[in-house]
Amino acid sequence: MFPTPDLNAARQRIEAAYRPELVRDAGHRLIDAMADYLVRVQACEGVVLPWRAPPDNVREAAGFLDKSKSPDAPCGELAEYFSQIVRTMLQRCHNLHDPRYIGHQVPAPVPLGGLFDAVGSLTNQVMAIYDMGPWSTAVECAMVDALGQRIGWPAGQFSGLVTHGGSIANLTALLTARNVQLPGAWEAGIPSGGRPPVMLVQADAHYSVSRSAGVLGLGTNQVVRVGLDARRRMDPQQLDDCLRRLRADNQPIVAVTACACATPIGAFDPLDQIAEVCRRHEVWLHVDAAHGGSACLSARHRHLVRGLDQADSVIWDAHKMLFVPGLCAFVFYREGRHRFETFRQEAPYLFDPAAPGLAEYDSGLRTLECTKRAAAFGLWGVWSLFGERLFTDLVDVTFELGQVLYGKLQAAPDFTPLHDPQCNIVVFRYTPEYAQGFSAERLGQFQLALRRHLIESGQFYIVSTNIDRIGALRVTIINPLTTPDHLDQLLDAIRRSGEKVREATD
Ligand SMILES: *Cc1c(COP(=O)(O)O)cnc(C)c1O
Repeated sequence: MFPTPDLNAARQRIEAAYRPELVRDAGHRLIDAMADYLVRVQACEGVVLPWRAPPDNVREAAGFLDKSKSPDAPCGELAEYFSQIVRTMLQRCHNLHDPRYIGHQVPAPVPLGGLFDAVGSLTNQVMAIYDMGPWSTAVECAMVDALGQRIGWPAGQFSGLVTHGGSIANLTALLTARNVQLPGAWEAGIPSGGRPPVMLVQADAHYSVSRSAGVLGLGTNQVVRVGLDARRRMDPQQLDDCLRRLRADNQPIVAVTACACATPIGAFDPLDQIAEVCRRHEVWLHVDAAHGGSACLSARHRHLVRGLDQADSVIWDAHKMLFVPGLCAFVFYREGRHRFETFRQEAPYLFDPAAPGLAEYDSGLRTLECTKRAAAFGLWGVWSLFGERLFTDLVDVTFELGQVLYGKLQAAPDFTPLHDPQCNIVVFRYTPEYAQGFSAERLGQFQLALRRHLIESGQFYIVSTNIDRIGALRVTIINPLTTPDHLDQLLDAIRRSGEKVREATD
């Protein structure tokens, strides 16, 4: 804490920090640093993940806090120091634009998307009510309309919103389903008499779905996992049997959650068949299309989401397969009227009864967030600049690479693909001759150990998963600059890491 005897001096320091000329000078340097960064990273010049133990990074970050300059230092000096700080940030970050980054379902975003987002950050166009973010609200409405129509719904009949990520999107949609299916639950809570309500989910569904059951007061024990077929897709017959049993027992049902696609191996549920079953039993169908919703934009892959338009609610992450920076996720309701069922509260200081027509544009009535960032600027900006075609290209190229990698794994005697990929998520094991005698458990541990070695070496970034409780390697090709050559290099890098792990454990 500083003593502040002189408020005039305080005011001068503040004005100095807000100098537009400082933004101009620092901004030019920022753009240069970021463009230099992309040149280096996209050419694979360094490592993918600059691995360091967390405390080392924390110590360095904390060190910066004590090295600041006074805001009234000369502009040039501050701009120079600003660019030094930025260059450290760029050196320490995980390099998603390196084509050897093929790990989690987080894309190397279209770079200009980040710059459109920066406009929202600098001007702070947060919303809750229309007045605070007139253009960010307009942009969101335009994107909800455009994407909802790509799902296949007629304009004007559906509704949607943007929220901070797929997990909150699932929670929001399932809260709406709960309120519609259990009238009175919003005000009175879950009724304690009678049979407790259940929620059905695809057995591989993302953890945010069962977590929602906990948050919504249903209880995670009330989550019923519906069995999968041999390709890990929800089996409509098992769903039908399950719903019939529950109905016969008079068990209240909040929703069925299907996946397009599920995270472990990217399996797309047969949505048209599932929708038919749900219609017959009159239950709410929610589809988690966080990753695969973007197949709607691809003539080649649209068949994967056939039936998506029959869902009651859908979520779709733009910060995955629409290749924009986080966080930007969409919730859709097929019947537009459901949008006000989520939160039935009134917040009179926010929403102006003198202009009731504007409530439609006050995003806070429909979102968990009150203050919410202008999350769709990146998506709207990239679409406005390059057109829808770029998104189609991104989906087509990355999904195709999933098949290319699958082909290479099949052709390599020392690798075992675990499925025929439906999209850009590919799961496999490294199974060289020396691992033939390993127990299943040891083989799984071997995958995890070699993946650790691989990512800490910085040569590639991939992730691991468990398939039937045994460790496996998992790749999401979500950097569109990855090429088949990089995938050949991946197999070689895995072989080298496998050898190192073997030497270390022998
Ligand atoms: C990524 C993902 C989520 C979670 O979304 P976040 O944006 O990370 O919160 C939920 N469901 C599926 C199927 C996903 O792929």
